[in-house]
Amino acid sequence: MSASDILVLAEIQRDAVADVTQELLAAARGVAAATGGQVVALVLSKNGDAYVPALKAADRIVLLNDPLLADYSPEPFLAVLQEVVAAEQPRAVLIGSTSIGWDLAPMLSAKLSAPLVVGCKAIQAEGGALRVTTSFCGGKMMAEVKVADAPAVLMVLPGSFRASGETGQGKVEARSPSAPLAAGAVGFEELILPEAGDVDITQQDVLVAVGRGIQQQDNVELAEQLAEALGGAVCASRPVVDQGWLPSTRQVGKSGMTVRPKLYLALGISGAPEHQEGMSGSDLIIAVNTDAKAPIFDFAHYGAEVDALDLLPKLVEAVQAKK
Ligand SMILES: Cc1cc2nc3c(=O)[nH]c(=O)nc-3n(C[C@H](O)[C@H](O)[C@H](O)COP(=O)(O)OP(=O)(O)OC[C@H]3O[C@@H](n4cnc5c(N)ncnc54)[C@H](O)[C@@H]3O)c2cc1C
Repeated sequence: MSASDILVLAEIQRDAVADVTQELLAAARGVAAATGGQVVALVLSKNGDAYVPALKAADRIVLLNDPLLADYSPEPFLAVLQEVVAAEQPRAVLIGSTSIGWDLAPMLSAKLSAPLVVGCKAIQAEGGALRVTTSFCGGKMMAEVKVADAPAVLMVLPGSFRASGETGQGKVEARSPSAPLAAGAVGFEELILPEAGDVDITQQDVLVAVGRGIQQQDNVELAEQLAEALGGAVCASRPVVDQGWLPSTRQVGKSGMTVRPKLYLALGISGAPEHQEGMSGSDLIIAVNTDAKAPIFDFAHYGAEVDALDLLPKLVEAVQAKK
């Protein structure tokens, strides 16, 4: 590994490489192209072979195998991550801004006395330094920071980069920790999955999203009809869920789900940063809002300044007529 390489910590969730890892690999590819380095994916697990096909975007895939890495627990993960980073001295280590990332990245930074940047949304190599755009105060403010020291530990916000589908050299190296790992004081006990039985909005191509502008629970039915006609599902901003009009499994945003449908039709949603965080990766965002100054119009691809309640029945009729 060279000082211009970008190391990506692959995150394994429920025996699969998490989507955020593909985004990190795309981010790493952009930076490595400028530094002249390679994209290196690091998998910490019991046996990483199964994850190799999902990591073809990397030039090198380093598998750190050990029974104590079967499930996430802080101490063994930190020990091996620290060992790999210290030995290889990459230009930057990219870690997802996920529960595991929030646990590991600050500890890694402290252990290595390496700079840590959280909330990364864009990363550029500039001379010998990295220029990082970072989001804070829940997305209400952005800052540009320059990181001269290497390795830099960068926590990347999910949804900030689009998985490119590019393939790298894909060379695989399997290793074991240099010394036996200790279990540590905190260990994994059980994965508690969200309640099943509802639609998985993260898997939908079409989402009809309703916000406070839908005004009352009865109007959600209209959105359901439109979603059905379009072959998608209904999701919502937080106020709609807080009022109990839809279950929490339908909430999009910072404290809800991150979605990336082909079409995100936002009806009566203002576009607060906490909502934007969960849907900005959608292929096509169409916003319908009565307020021309609603922030959602700043990042939607198309917008209509109309009353969603007037539009909905007409849209349902038009889509049904087309079928
Ligand atoms: C820590 C934290 C976490 C949060 N997590 C989330 C989260 O996960 N998801 C989330 O969504 N929010 C979250 N929020 C809340 C977020 O800040 C906003 O309050 C919320 O997104 C606003 O929802 P909204 O757009 O539906 O409502 P509003 O901001 O009230 O906007 C309603 C919009 O509807 C428009 N409107 C009204 N009537 C009509 C009509 N008839 N037709 C068309 N448009 C109409 C209005 O012009 C307005 O723009 C979080 C906040 C915090 C502090």
